[in-house]
Amino acid sequence: MDIYRVAIVGAGPAGYFAAQSLFKAQSTNRTFLIDMIERLPTPWGLVRSGVAPDHQKIKTVSKVFENIAKQDNFRLFANTELGKDISLKDLSEVYDAVILATGASGGKKLGIKGEELQNSFSAAEFVSWYNAHPDFTNLKVNLETETAIIIGSGNVAIDVARMLLIDYEKLEITDIAQHALSIFKGSKIREVIICGRRAPENAAFTSVELRNLIKLENIEISVSHKQLKESNLRISKVKDLDREVENNLHAMSMVLNQSSKSFKRKLEIKFLVTPLEIKGVNHVEEVIFAINKVNDGKVEITNEFFSLKAGLVISAIGYEPIKYQGIEIKNGRIENIAGHIKDNIYVVGWAKRGSVGVIGTNKSDATDVVDLLIKDLKVPKKVTGIEGVLQSNHKFINQIGWEKINASEVISGELSGKPRIKESDWNRLINLGTT
Ligand code: NAP
Repeated sequence: MDIYRVAIVGAGPAGYFAAQSLFKAQSTNRTFLIDMIERLPTPWGLVRSGVAPDHQKIKTVSKVFENIAKQDNFRLFANTELGKDISLKDLSEVYDAVILATGASGGKKLGIKGEELQNSFSAAEFVSWYNAHPDFTNLKVNLETETAIIIGSGNVAIDVARMLLIDYEKLEITDIAQHALSIFKGSKIREVIICGRRAPENAAFTSVELRNLIKLENIEISVSHKQLKESNLRISKVKDLDREVENNLHAMSMVLNQSSKSFKRKLEIKFLVTPLEIKGVNHVEEVIFAINKVNDGKVEITNEFFSLKAGLVISAIGYEPIKYQGIEIKNGRIENIAGHIKDNIYVVGWAKRGSVGVIGTNKSDATDVVDLLIKDLKVPKKVTGIEGVLQSNHKFINQIGWEKINASEVISGELSGKPRIKESDWNRLINLGTT
């Protein structure tokens, strides 16, 4: 029997699906011992800190993760950071194979003047804050402003818009961070403007997400009638048009047919605009935009400008992986060939392919990379695993420790009619998980 030790760094969907693929590939003559290493005191990655609180159904995939974690040959080492508590070089030496499932947690920057002003955030920060990520507990978010601008027209932009516009009572019964809930309670936001740099047919959001937004009462959604008409004209000339583009434009045209009720809040989706500067004294007050036009199928910036007054700006323009010593980041992903980085080191998920795809995409992706890893395996090395490199006094949180945190959160949630009340303080999480 060949016994291989594999380290998976990152306890998000990509990491768990990689573990699942490895377990599925076990046979009578091949076993895998899997150690999952996670920087945070809690696992589940974006399912815990990315998926919007009002999308509880999507979070049920965590049951799949917990079933994987219950397998005999699986160990969790949470509160253990690559690059600080262990190096990639060490991991590569003490495991037969290493899989990086470290995601893409840094928000891409617009790189424009004023981006650093107060109340200008990347979605990576804002979403992590309302989802109780312990690194973002103290983010100073001010929702006592009438208008918020979101840059980017992807599904994250839609998530953030919905969170800003949804009735407070709908958030109260979710697992939103307690610190964020009190800020949302005092929210004075009445208008959200999503700003996409290309045309409606290039919107990166999916029609399902827009349709769900349309279903929310009290929100009036608007898109330029003229821009939609022009988009429909352009796509009518395209052969083999992507079905999703058609669906998206159809969903947008439904918006135009909304009967005007007594809407409490407004969402405008503006296309063909590029933010040039965020202005304000200390905090965000105004955003200057250039108007873009479509010329011969290409989007070009024009010399026409306009400005919008707003007290909050969130850029939802994608994510970037974190850099570790020994790896290169290029085009928003860790440099790799079909998931192989170098030697016995592999990569899966957003770290491998950039911040594209939904949770389920990670499943097939992990299977492909694990197939490649297995083809590359030689005879098992005589390796120690993490015990050989982790300081003996390092306080990691194992599966039992995490289950204590999980149970404590779920129990406190039950008392107030929520799925859970998330703990967002680093020290309290570590204490809960290690005692
Ligand atoms: P995304 O889908 O890549 O959208 C990013 C948006 O930002 C695009 O509209 C892009 O425009 C724009 N953008 C990029 N750089 C820009 C710049 N410098 N200036 C102005 N705009 C810029 O990314 P995402 O919304 O972060 O989502 C990431 C992935 O997660 C996607 O696959 C998404 O579907 C998925 N997701 C799914 C759900 C769900 O299913 N409920 C929820 C959240 C996220 P261009 O197209 O012009 O580049």
